[in-house]
Amino acid sequence: MISLQATRTSPAISLVDEFSRPITYLRVSVTDKCNLRCVYCMPESGLAWLGRDEILSYEEIAEIVRAAASVGVRSIRLTGGEPLIRRELSRLVAALAAIPGIEDIALSTNGLLLEEQIGALAAAGLRRVNLSLDTLRPDRFETIARRPGLDLVLRGLDAAIRAGLAPVKLNCVIMRGQNDDELIEFAMLTKDRPIFVRFIEVMPVHENLELQRDAYVSSDEILERISAGAQLEAVPGPHGNGPARYFAFPGALGAVGVISPLSHDYCGTCNRVRLTADGRLRLCLFGDHALDLRTPLRAGASMEELAGLLGSAMLIKPARHHLRLGETASRMRAFSEIGG
Ligand code: SAM
Ligand code: SF4
Repeated sequence: MISLQATRTSPAISLVDEFSRPITYLRVSVTDKCNLRCVYCMPESGLAWLGRDEILSYEEIAEIVRAAASVGVRSIRLTGGEPLIRRELSRLVAALAAIPGIEDIALSTNGLLLEEQIGALAAAGLRRVNLSLDTLRPDRFETIARRPGLDLVLRGLDAAIRAGLAPVKLNCVIMRGQNDDELIEFAMLTKDRPIFVRFIEVMPVHENLELQRDAYVSSDEILERISAGAQLEAVPGPHGNGPARYFAFPGALGAVGVISPLSHDYCGTCNRVRLTADGRLRLCLFGDHALDLRTPLRAGASMEELAGLLGSAMLIKPARHHLRLGETASRMRAFSEIGG
């Protein structure tokens, strides 16, 4: 629904779903393609990639974001696939930063191309970066990401810190038997770096069902294992729309977080929707709740009409996802299909 209650800081019309959750955060997938093949995310052979004409242009994305901003969306996260493989991403960042109402533009990246692009992205108005990294060991990186590149990712991480894109968050998908022995090493990175290391429970997507079932480590176990060797205290998280719970070592510059989509889902406070690279508005990370925006956009819909469609989409945003450990694969959508 579209709420007509205006406040001093929010627009006259804002998006509120059927469960009274205000929607202020839009994740925008700019491509379905990726230069890595992380074992939990996509098959080694890749996916059935979208055609060039199917993908929204930067101008089309900006038009949808303009409509979203007019009904209360304030934060944008660019994601993928791998967003930095799309040419001149800084051009899109600049266009979005100029849209009235957009207060925060963030990026999720695997970091391979970050060092070379960070200057242009920051100058264009990028405010924050989430970088994904699942291991600190080069050989393991090649096993998990199925491509080399750890050195580039680490350089990207340092470049993001140097560029002052605070807070830099490092996302690490923990898998039993694959990288769970690096939990402490990752957590220790927060002692002398102003970063937030966030451990994510592996979720079932695509054909990773078996991997997910065998490799799943709950966030409670992750926290137990980190705090067994050291004192950790709960701390408030950084500003940033996040679903994570945070903890810090005494005197540390950064903090450790856990994201528990399965064991402690955060659906009750969900404030987000997703725009796929081919212009579908997805209302939930999992499931089929989606609305095609590309067809009306290309048929000439005005910004007001697009805003109206965003409002009608609120009717189909589900209360929660219903995934459980070992869920059947048929009900799942890959991150790369749905925009990370
Ligand atoms: N390519 C970029 C990256 O890796 O950051 C952006 C897209 S990626 C799909 C976004 C995030 O989703 C990454 O942090 C990745 O680790 C996480 N992710 C992908 N598949 C996942 C899964 N099956 N379970 C948990 N997290 C997953
Ligand atoms: Fe690519 Fe990100 Fe998926 Fe890894 S998690 S395959 S980097 S989209």
